[in-house]
Amino acid sequence: MDYESLKSPTSFLKLMLGDLPDGVVFREYETWWEAEGKEISASVDREGTPWLRMYDVFGTRVDEILYPPAYWSMLRNGYRAGTVWRLFECGSLVPSYLLGYLTAFYDTGLYCPYTVSLSTAIPLAKYADVQVRSRYLPLMLRKDDTAWQGATWMTEAAGGSDLGAGVETIAEPAGVHWVLNGEKYFASNAGAELAVVAARRAGAPANVRGLSLFLLPRYREDGSLNYSIRRLKDKIGTRSVPTGEVELHDSQAYLLGKAEQGIYLILETLNISRVANSIGSVALMQRAIAEALDFAQHRTAFGKPVVEHPLLRQQFEERVCLLQGAFALAWETVRLLDEVWQETPHYSERYHLFRLVAHLAKYWTAEQAVLAAKWAMEVHGGMGVLAEYGVERWLREAMILPIWEGTPHRQILDGLEVMQRKQAHELLFRHLAPYAASQDLEETAAQVEALLALPQDEREARAEPVFRQLAIFSAETLQRRLEKVAGVEVHLE
Ligand SMILES: Cc1cc2nc3c(=O)[nH]c(=O)nc-3n(C[C@H](O)[C@H](O)[C@H](O)COP(=O)(O)OP(=O)(O)OC[C@H]3O[C@@H](n4cnc5c(N)ncnc54)[C@H](O)[C@@H]3O)c2cc1C
Repeated sequence: MDYESLKSPTSFLKLMLGDLPDGVVFREYETWWEAEGKEISASVDREGTPWLRMYDVFGTRVDEILYPPAYWSMLRNGYRAGTVWRLFECGSLVPSYLLGYLTAFYDTGLYCPYTVSLSTAIPLAKYADVQVRSRYLPLMLRKDDTAWQGATWMTEAAGGSDLGAGVETIAEPAGVHWVLNGEKYFASNAGAELAVVAARRAGAPANVRGLSLFLLPRYREDGSLNYSIRRLKDKIGTRSVPTGEVELHDSQAYLLGKAEQGIYLILETLNISRVANSIGSVALMQRAIAEALDFAQHRTAFGKPVVEHPLLRQQFEERVCLLQGAFALAWETVRLLDEVWQETPHYSERYHLFRLVAHLAKYWTAEQAVLAAKWAMEVHGGMGVLAEYGVERWLREAMILPIWEGTPHRQILDGLEVMQRKQAHELLFRHLAPYAASQDLEETAAQVEALLALPQDEREARAEPVFRQLAIFSAETLQRRLEKVAGVEVHLE
């Protein structure tokens, strides 16, 4: 592989996937990032969290998110490029996730607004009734700078892993609307014009079956605020998305889909974001490795650039190999989701396969992003810990990737569930068999079967090494398939 392709997300994508559809769009998007976006992104990160202006000068509650003006041009640039509208124009998720890869290479946090907007537009398109869809969806698909943004708010103060117990927001029917009362404790893209939110129907069971998914506009019919922002979180990273605490007081919302199927819709929404998280994690890995490479080519020690010393060179080759495996795994989630995203409950076998691959990818790529970012700091030596050179930012950004959209524990346990209930591991092994070494496949399959045969507590306790092995096996096998397709060679030149 040519070093230079690591320094450009478009070049790396071309290397992995061959020619990109609408390649010009991606080149132009990258050119903009290099010319303008990089600097804006760095300054937003440096200046800390966005501010919240709760009241206007006359004392009216407005809950306005304030960023420097350049931030809004950076944000709007991605919507214009088609992070959301291209799905509905092209009928494929591929352009959205490719643009997401480019965005995350430059600013992992900025990929969040595009992701949650996509994760709002999809359930709106699939599950809203005709009037609600025709009223709101076109506003999200505008190609100018007025496109409406979305958000996905499930987590409450009681905890995000166990949504069945943790969601205390109550929904009650009120004519064409429902009325929601409660609080959302981690609400990214606060200020969005629309959000999809989880709430419990009044009197419904205190478990996941009691949950439904609602579309919540920012403003009521009379123009007043429909949700209020109590405060914004001060985060270590992803500062280019405002994450707040949101209060719902008799907020008007529309039910999406069938009330009793809410948990399926919630998980569909989360899975769209988990795919994005995997893509964003790999993009961040590439960025961290590229910056480490750039530094190591110019820093000398013991008479030559540090990249030319055998130990570091070996590490680079291993990192690049991991990057390619992680990319192959993440990209498989895009391919599979592109096939199944229009499905509704009850899902096909293909959907169950997608779910397992999405859990594996979310778990594995986020962990690799953290490790790559830490390693990039080490390669920079003392410069790595200095805020002025920016490489420490990738570790701050990376640390959020394993946590939001469900922690590693959640991915492992949900992965176990889809294997137990839907035999998704068998689907996965069949899916990978044409590209896998048969001995590796048999050994990995035997480990998974042995795990699934254990009593529940023991199964959970021993799950991580097996899940990790399954992720590595899947990544390596899918990497082999991509290499065949795109003719990628793995060693550094
Ligand atoms: C920057 C940021 C932005 C976010 N934005 C949003 C957003 O826009 N919308 C949204 O809905 N959420 C959002 N979240 C919330 C995120 O999804 C949750 O933080 C995450 O799901 C974990 O929930 P929790 O923090 O409540 O941890 P908890 O659920 O309280 O879990 C605490 C720990 O216990 C572990 N744990 C829980 N159950 C088990 C088990 N059975 N076995 C083993 N371990 C277990 C967890 O993995 C975790 O390590 C955001 C989070 C962050 C950090």
